[in-house]
Amino acid sequence: MLNIQALIDDARCFQVIRDLRWPQGVCCLHCHSAQILQQGHDETQPARQRYLCRSCSRRFDDLTETIFAGHHQPLRVWVLCLYFLGLNLSNEQIARELDLDPDDAQRMCTQLRQGIVEHKPQVVLSGAVECDEVYVIAGHKGHPEAVQKKQRLGRRRRLKGERGRGTLEKEKPPILGMIQRTGEVVIRMLENVQQATIDPIIRATIRPGSVVYTDEYDIYSRLPEWGYLHHTVCHAAGEFARDEDGDGFCEVHVNTLEGFWSLLRSWLRPHRGISQEKLPLYLGFFEFVHNVRKRGKALLKSLIELLVQPTPRNTG
Ligand SMILES: [Zn+2]
Repeated sequence: MLNIQALIDDARCFQVIRDLRWPQGVCCLHCHSAQILQQGHDETQPARQRYLCRSCSRRFDDLTETIFAGHHQPLRVWVLCLYFLGLNLSNEQIARELDLDPDDAQRMCTQLRQGIVEHKPQVVLSGAVECDEVYVIAGHKGHPEAVQKKQRLGRRRRLKGERGRGTLEKEKPPILGMIQRTGEVVIRMLENVQQATIDPIIRATIRPGSVVYTDEYDIYSRLPEWGYLHHTVCHAAGEFARDEDGDGFCEVHVNTLEGFWSLLRSWLRPHRGISQEKLPLYLGFFEFVHNVRKRGKALLKSLIELLVQPTPRNTG
């Protein structure tokens, strides 16, 4: 159903949206009735079907209440933009590929990332979960010189996990990662690395009673108080994996998260000078991409499916 040929054809693009939005057939956005009449097409977008609900008499169309409604760019440009975001092209590359004004491309990419972050399902982790934090250089938009200078100085330390030094204020925002072994990941930009900051995030993300693996950084020292079984690995002593119960498996480590950090590092690489304001959008987008475990066209389908969901949730 979903192929790239279809996405450069407006009519087929609208069909893709309809199929993903209403897999059981079109139903009313307001009262969910399936008693729907087709009522002509949009005046400026001939492939955009309009509907009238026979139950509540209200009108809507293919794009009503979606992120794709009310923009001057054709739907196919939005969808291609989303496809390229899934392939991890930078905003600048997308502008070139789609022959868009760079500011337009930037705006569209931001809206799409925002949409994904607002719609993505809340992830709850349980079982064996690793927690760790890294620091990313991210300044403020509108101060490109300061950002560039900081990046040159900091490039080698990006995502390296320099202890306790990074804060949002210092333009080196910490990112907290929580990953269920063989499962999903949750990443959040933090104001700072303090227990009071991570406490609510960890409690909202990791089910009580889970086993949480961290290094010996003291922000994690209250995990037992918060309802978790806590195991630590001592990075400083060169101890990366320890066989604690003597069964031959080295379970005390944060290697799963270390592996994820290198994926995140690669993912962020094409995007130069991400501001603190935008960083959470890049993180949230990658979190979804990683958790959905799809690439290319299959990922695009999941991204569109998510964006045409009715009610956006508002989480960080
Ligand atoms: Zn209705």
